[in-house]
Amino acid sequence: MVAKPDGDETPKRAAIVQLDRAWVESYGSGTFQEALYELSLQARLAVQAHQVAISYVPDGDFQAAIHTHSFSEKYEKYNTYDVMPTGEGIWGVVVKSRRAVRMTDEELHSHPQWKNFSDLLDDRGLEHPEMRGWLAVPILRQDGGFVGVLQASDKYEGEFSEDDLNEFTHLANMIAPTFELQYVNHQLEQSNVELKQFAYVASHDLQTPLRAISGFARFLQEDYQGKLDEKADKHIERIIQGCNRMQTMINDLLTYSRVESRARPFQPTDLNEVFDDAVAILASSIEDSGGAVTCGELPTVASDPSHLAQLLQNLIGNGLKYCGDDPPHVHVSAENSGNEWTIAVRDNGIGIDSKYHERIFEIFRRLHTHDEIPGTGIGLAVCRRIVHRHGGRIWLESETGKGSTFYFAIPERSNEQQE
Ligand code: ADP
Repeated sequence: MVAKPDGDETPKRAAIVQLDRAWVESYGSGTFQEALYELSLQARLAVQAHQVAISYVPDGDFQAAIHTHSFSEKYEKYNTYDVMPTGEGIWGVVVKSRRAVRMTDEELHSHPQWKNFSDLLDDRGLEHPEMRGWLAVPILRQDGGFVGVLQASDKYEGEFSEDDLNEFTHLANMIAPTFELQYVNHQLEQSNVELKQFAYVASHDLQTPLRAISGFARFLQEDYQGKLDEKADKHIERIIQGCNRMQTMINDLLTYSRVESRARPFQPTDLNEVFDDAVAILASSIEDSGGAVTCGELPTVASDPSHLAQLLQNLIGNGLKYCGDDPPHVHVSAENSGNEWTIAVRDNGIGIDSKYHERIFEIFRRLHTHDEIPGTGIGLAVCRRIVHRHGGRIWLESETGKGSTFYFAIPERSNEQQE
């Protein structure tokens, strides 16, 4: 471990290899910001300066930046002094030139970039003390993009040397990949949010025409009951089935994109009714499969009923889809264990090898992809999200060829989790 700066007695010069270690250790054990802070303390010792600052500036945006700094006692009153988010002063010089700079105080003061900075200082009523030189090094991504600045000012004695600049450049190169990782991570999170918003809006908009198609198909069915030949009846029935299937996928997408999952409060929900609704929606799939879906006595729980319907629909639907040669039989039962209900959805289908039991709930994880088995790979991921939102757990017992039982346990009383 590198020694912490202790008061202001002239510290021993920290070897650069120790700085490497300090960075790796602190990055591994805390947040990015804490690691930056730790490094700024150590870097100040390395170049023996009264002030060091490290700025992570994603996309060159100083407003979105994270800044950490270390001041010696000499600058104690500057600890709350927030000049860095401006992109002015020495930061501005580096951002413009994209090169490491070493300057005397006079050189910086006569630089055009200094002007705004000193205006800012005046605004805050603090006089900038004379500095024994400045060092600043840009932190760059591999593609040359600018992601940060490493900066020091006011050497304890004398001016900063070429060696100091080299050490700082080394340090900047060392932390650049981590900054880049941080940046990429941020971009990914951002596009993840955008994709989810897109999925939500697109699936929401798809519902309107879909409702029109299935609504008019039902009108046709009712208005022309007994007047159409068997073939036309079948075609209409197929349209309605297709709409139901599509509605299930849309519901999964809506839930996965999360937005609407926050809206509805929990209410007492009779699972027998939820089961009946799910079976009604799956009616044509059940009929096509030649199988059966049954249930025992189910309890009333506190839930978001539309989400529980979706959960049961997905689990029962899978039991029907992933069946073996025999006609599928899916049975839903419930068991009370103190303060929670465990619901089991058992099928006699093809089963799932135990090595996949954990990962099967991840999005897009599909084991049995077959043209005849339609699927998106989001059904179980959505089930898990719904169960977690109800403060519960989901798991399965299954063996290849011996059917599967999916269990979910939810608290008896409302215990809503907001993700
Ligand atoms: P989808 O059914 O749309 O592919 P799911 O997320 O619902 O997506 O399921 C993921 C995968 O888990 C399925 O592709 C299938 O391989 C497997 N699976 C799910 N339920 C069962 C089941 N009851 N029996 C056998 N395999 C199943």
